[in-house]
Amino acid sequence: MAKIIQVIKGTHDILPQEAEQWHFLEKNAIEIFSKYGYKEIRTPVLEATELFARGVGDTTDIVNKEMYTFEKGDRSLTLRPENTAGVVRSFIENGMTRLSAPVKLWYKGPMFRYERPQKGRQRQFHQVGVEMFGVKEPAADAEVILMAVNYLKSLGLNDLDVEINSLGCPKCRDEFKLKLKEVLKPEFSNLCEDCQNRYEKNPLRLLDCKVESCKAIFEKPEIQKVIQSDFVCEECKTHFDELKLYLDKMNVKYSVNKLLVRGLDYYNRTVFEIKSNNLGSQNAVCGGGRYDSLVKNLGGEDTPAVGWAMGMERLISLLPERKIKKLDGYIVSNFSAEAFQLAEELRHEGYSVEFDLSNKKFTKQLEKASKVANYALILGEDEIKSNTVSVKNLATSEQKTVSKKDLRSIL
Ligand code: ATP
Ligand code: MG
Repeated sequence: MAKIIQVIKGTHDILPQEAEQWHFLEKNAIEIFSKYGYKEIRTPVLEATELFARGVGDTTDIVNKEMYTFEKGDRSLTLRPENTAGVVRSFIENGMTRLSAPVKLWYKGPMFRYERPQKGRQRQFHQVGVEMFGVKEPAADAEVILMAVNYLKSLGLNDLDVEINSLGCPKCRDEFKLKLKEVLKPEFSNLCEDCQNRYEKNPLRLLDCKVESCKAIFEKPEIQKVIQSDFVCEECKTHFDELKLYLDKMNVKYSVNKLLVRGLDYYNRTVFEIKSNNLGSQNAVCGGGRYDSLVKNLGGEDTPAVGWAMGMERLISLLPERKIKKLDGYIVSNFSAEAFQLAEELRHEGYSVEFDLSNKKFTKQLEKASKVANYALILGEDEIKSNTVSVKNLATSEQKTVSKKDLRSIL
């Protein structure tokens, strides 16, 4: 026998029995997001590597360690690790700056990160996300958070924690970074290797460290004092206060988490995450925030923006299993041509129907019907002669013979 080829580590097949759950996520996304005026955008999986180096930030783990990058011709290409950079590229390239604000876009699709595979973490995973361009006011931040919560509710996920924080703007954040570095300096040698590397380049990211010994350091009172201090400037504070006011008015429960900094470099002011207690250590289902400088950094006109992304596999792991939908009918017959004809007629009318393509024994067909359909549609010699069908309800075993016309009132 030939050697079996296996799926690549960290990637997975989405099998037919899971498809219903994916359709559910996608159907609700279209439904909820369109209520808020969002239109779908689909950008390529392959992008120029430079897009992510500039768009996600070269101090992030994603860009430094996790990208699937390769050379083709004389270009360096990367499988997208996230979709915000791609959406921003498309926004600029297609002149969407000229459209009247806000421009509201949503996407879904596969992302690729070379991470250590574990529960809730794959190398190919899927995100559904939204981006809103052109509004600097906090009502936009509130609207995207509210929409995330409503989307999750529509999936039956009510029991989630919304955490928010403000990272300030480059001006006030720089002062905070200095203070943070200062207070962490005596601890430098006790920090993990990653944190030591980030210390100069991106000290805020230290707060996001998952290593226990680092977390313990951040708990120290003198360090907590700096972390918990209100470092943001007056304008950033007003923005954050107004956001909180909107969330209160809209009955969104949230907590402020000063350690929340998010992995990506481009955020300013609002950042947020939505977490579930039922996911173990990979507990974030949604992450997002405001990124007012990204469009300009990628060569577009200065355009404020805010958005989020959710991990679809993590959402699915929170959903109850969905039963595979059965066929409306399965035709049991040894008259293939007649069965074929009836199946097609019913399909044209919108029913889902199958019949036995290989003309197996009657009892075998009935067995198959009871596995895959709600009704067995029996088409024997008598039925064909009298232009009727014997319909068997496979749940109750009730059976009756009806004219083909009346079949529709039963299925
Ligand atoms: P995490 O802290 O879990 O690594 P992140 O900050 O890297 O998340 P984002 O880049 O903001 O995540 O992506 C948004 C969402 O995408 C996450 O909240 C998570 O649900 C999902 N996600 C991120 N990386 C993965 C992965 N490798 N496998 C599965 N889902 C993922
Ligand atoms: Mg990550």
